[in-house]
Amino acid sequence: MIDVKDKHIVIIGAARSGVAAAILLKNKGAQVFVSDFNQIGEYQKQLLLDQKIEFEEGGHSERTHKADFIVVSPGVPTEAPIVQHYLNSGKAVYSEIETASWFTDQSIIAATGSNGKTTVTSWIADVWQKANRNYSVAGNIGFAFSEKIAQKSKGDFILEVSSFQLDHIHSFKPEISLLLNITPDHLNRYGNSFDAYAASKFRITENQDEKNWFIFNYDDPVIMAHVEGLKKKRNAPRLWAFSTVSEVPEGAFVRDQHIIFKFNNEEETLMPVYEVGLNGKHNLSNGLATALAARAAEIKNEAIRESLKTFVGVEHRLEIVRIVDDVKYINDSKATNVNAVWFALDSFHEPMTLILGGRDKGNDYSELLDQIQEKVHTIIAIGESKDRVEEQLGNAVPNFIKAESMWAAVRTAKKTAKRGEIVLLSPACSSFDMFDDYEHRGKVFKEEVYKL
Ligand code: ADP
Repeated sequence: MIDVKDKHIVIIGAARSGVAAAILLKNKGAQVFVSDFNQIGEYQKQLLLDQKIEFEEGGHSERTHKADFIVVSPGVPTEAPIVQHYLNSGKAVYSEIETASWFTDQSIIAATGSNGKTTVTSWIADVWQKANRNYSVAGNIGFAFSEKIAQKSKGDFILEVSSFQLDHIHSFKPEISLLLNITPDHLNRYGNSFDAYAASKFRITENQDEKNWFIFNYDDPVIMAHVEGLKKKRNAPRLWAFSTVSEVPEGAFVRDQHIIFKFNNEEETLMPVYEVGLNGKHNLSNGLATALAARAAEIKNEAIRESLKTFVGVEHRLEIVRIVDDVKYINDSKATNVNAVWFALDSFHEPMTLILGGRDKGNDYSELLDQIQEKVHTIIAIGESKDRVEEQLGNAVPNFIKAESMWAAVRTAKKTAKRGEIVLLSPACSSFDMFDDYEHRGKVFKEEVYKL
């Protein structure tokens, strides 16, 4: 733990987690100053005023250069001149979860990965609840970790952690960490280097020791390459793997359509795969990861089983909205990269109309060709990336249609989908060209579906 009393600390970025960090650090006796390159939201500003925390907006003044160290919000890139200034002058740069972790010795369960973080974090919380364990959920998922620490939340902290939060950790040490998968995303924040992005995800385990657990995806070659290195480390954490395709030395896997746990060379059958409530191979992976986290925390199989059977998933992730004229409408607005769409398509066998597009992050849509040719008869492209989607997928389907709004997309889908089929919104893109965020996009989709 770092003693912050009377330290001069500048917080860069005044969104939720930055403001929460400022309040926590001030409570701990630090002299804090908050600086945001953009305008600060009214709500956050009021919080700062209420707490008598000084702040500036619309740029970083000279004053931001004079702190003992800075705390950066996840939205601030490492390339930002203010971050570079501190790194170059040998002063520390910490992320918000790092800072918050100084003030607790309660257990931390932390999940990261390119896809599935929110699902797994929520699923772990569901098991904890079924097992009557105290917990609070925080991180990338709506509540800042600092906020929970400031509120003196009891029990285990279940954290959703993004690679940006991991970029500036120093002593952050989860008792149980989970690395779900690593596929290209946010490469613009890592100098377009996949290796740099992957390296930031592996940092989730860098401070763990033999009393801790690292739970990882055995089916992900990038992760497996890293685990080889980890095995050689002295005091390495316990390595528990999960796989939907092969048997693992220690962890959870599938054999004869049953989920099997294997610990210390002893096997236990948890439950049949068909009993897992959520659809799709990716959700089976997510369920195995969740089950292992629960076992690491010595939660009984009974509670794990109950959660795996009954957990209904999270809004905007393969969410069934409504069945109209025997057509199922599914909202997967949170699919903001190609890999998530691949798994969405893989989760169904019915013929499909797919609504795709938005703000493109340099996507290679051709990775979807196998799934699309097998089951998608109509693509409805929306948003800025319409033309790019058309270039790459226009010839792959019998019907390729462009729509100017979600209203038009849903109306068009109603015409193209036949009884027994599926209409899937799974955009592979971010939403900021047409919407406030992915939640807004999902909400508008659902509203349009409810109007049918
Ligand atoms: P994250 O918090 O990492 O963005 P979410 O749980 O919000 O992950 O899911 C984001 C998208 O990825 C959704 O479309 C979801 O259906 C899909 N998804 C969930 N888990 C996985 C996984 N293990 N592999 C690939 N895609 C996944």
